[in-house]
Amino acid sequence: MRIRRLKLSGFKSFVDPAELVIEPGLTGIVGPNGCGKSNLLEAIRWVMGEASSKSLRGSGMEDVIFAGTTTRPARDFAEVAMLLDQPGGGGDEIREAEIVRRIERGAGSAYRIDGRDVRQKDVALLFADAATGAHSPALVSQGRIGAIIAAKPTDRRAMLEEAAGIAGLHVRRRDAELKLRATETNLERLDTLLGDME
Ligand code: ATP
Repeated sequence: MRIRRLKLSGFKSFVDPAELVIEPGLTGIVGPNGCGKSNLLEAIRWVMGEASSKSLRGSGMEDVIFAGTTTRPARDFAEVAMLLDQPGGGGDEIREAEIVRRIERGAGSAYRIDGRDVRQKDVALLFADAATGAHSPALVSQGRIGAIIAAKPTDRRAMLEEAAGIAGLHVRRRDAELKLRATETNLERLDTLLGDME
């Protein structure tokens, strides 16, 4: 999976629509303190489905919406669109996909994949299957290196599982277990009903 382009609008300091094209090879982003370099990394994590506002340096998720300055009013929404290349059906086939996350004040987040409304879980699974995602160790925020060194073995295991691309399997296993439990409960109810009828 390769990120090709990022479009931001109303996200943190990016009040005006901005586009970042990521060409093959190494991309560096340089700029003075406070110009928004970390905000770009946070935009990547956010569009991947980040659910913790704390890890985006905010106290609530709406803090990602441009809050206004002395010269510009606050915005009512923030939107980030990420265009990526991912392996297609088979062989060396590459398929383009666009993931969009939008948040509106008082209305929460909505996600789209290629224009289709989807759940946060669908976006998280798409990235988990490609061994990446909002919590990927490949996305290193300030202060994160110290946290990784001090991490507990269980947390390090989660990082290794994510790197190995099996994190998505855990979510699917949990879903399957919930369905199995619901089916068992239904079967028990059916048994009771059949017993009553006999
Ligand atoms: P440094 O080099 O110091 O780490 P940086 O280039 O990484 O800085 P960021 O931390 O990405 O900069 O950006 C910080 C700027 O973003 C601050 O000026 C802050 O006011 C602004 N900012 C953050 N959230 C919002 C928001 N919701 N609305 C408006 N501006 C915001």
